[in-house]
Amino acid sequence: MIKSCYIHIPFCDTICSYCDFCKIYKKEKWIDLYLDNLAKEIKNNPIKSPLETIYIGGGTPSCLSIKQLERLFKIIASFPKKEKIEYTIEGNFESTTKEKLLLYKEYGINRLSFGLETVNQKLEKELNRTHSKNTVEEVMNFAKKIGLNNINIDIIYAIPGETLEDVKRDIDYVLSLKPTHISAYSLIFEDHTILTIKKKKPIAEEKEIEMINYLNKKLKENAYEHYEISNYAKDNYQSHHNQTYWHNEEYYAYGLGASSYINNKRERNTRSITEYIKGKLNKEIEVLTTEDTLEYEIILNLRTKEGISLEKIQKKYGYDLSEKYNYQSLLENHFLEINNNHLLIPEDKWYISNEIIVKILEGEKYG
Ligand code: SF4
Repeated sequence: MIKSCYIHIPFCDTICSYCDFCKIYKKEKWIDLYLDNLAKEIKNNPIKSPLETIYIGGGTPSCLSIKQLERLFKIIASFPKKEKIEYTIEGNFESTTKEKLLLYKEYGINRLSFGLETVNQKLEKELNRTHSKNTVEEVMNFAKKIGLNNINIDIIYAIPGETLEDVKRDIDYVLSLKPTHISAYSLIFEDHTILTIKKKKPIAEEKEIEMINYLNKKLKENAYEHYEISNYAKDNYQSHHNQTYWHNEEYYAYGLGASSYINNKRERNTRSITEYIKGKLNKEIEVLTTEDTLEYEIILNLRTKEGISLEKIQKKYGYDLSEKYNYQSLLENHFLEINNNHLLIPEDKWYISNEIIVKILEGEKYG
């Protein structure tokens, strides 16, 4: 049974220099047309099972007006849902008003996810973002006051020109806001982003590793569990929605560029807004073989602290993972370990997890 649904709202007030997500400058004339077609897309591909998680991501969903948000929430209100549901909306602090927070609450949203990235003004400029600490604190305080306590804050580190001291100041500030969840991403230089076009240079790898180690230590000291490569949570505040992805479970997805995973098919909608608002989804479809599914399982499960359940693989695929892939030397060299019948990457090697996963997949045994 599919228990998760993602809704994409691609509009942003400004475009960040590192962003390669599916996003566009907010244009009022597009938003109503977008919501019309989102409603149509959902009506034509309805949700059939009660949901346990809904995630409105972007883009910057909080940049919609109250009226537009209300329209969106009314569409979502008709979804079948379990009584206990994690219902998240992303946004930035600058466009989140008290009225919007009250509307979120009214429509059952119970988790907020904010992009803060950094509060260092020089680095903010590099990322083409701005924040006022007053606004950040006002939004956090008001959200908590009305019972929206489950809040994630995203930060970015390894920004060109950033030092370890800058990271320390950012994380101290984030900790002072007491979010239940923190996502910390190392800056990636993706093709066709402003950063790459401007030929900005990444910071030295040793500096980046110092920052990662610092973040891990500091967040652990402050009782955040490092449960996924880039994610840290207090108590039971792990993101249930993102766990659907990391556990390689199926999910619905609607909106521009959104990717769903249903019946062994990964389908991605067009990234062209002009096509989408004409009602054309032009889906890219990837039909998965059993081998593909297992590969996804390895790639996604190994992002998490718990890793891959070897028992689950045996039950689901009918063979032992080590019969299929030769990862013995990775185990011997401590790039992998087995704990409680789970294969996992130790936390101090997460920063090279991609390389380790590639090595596992290269070690596929044939014949
Ligand atoms: S707000 Fe988010 S989606 Fe929009 S440009 Fe910045 S990083 Fe990209």
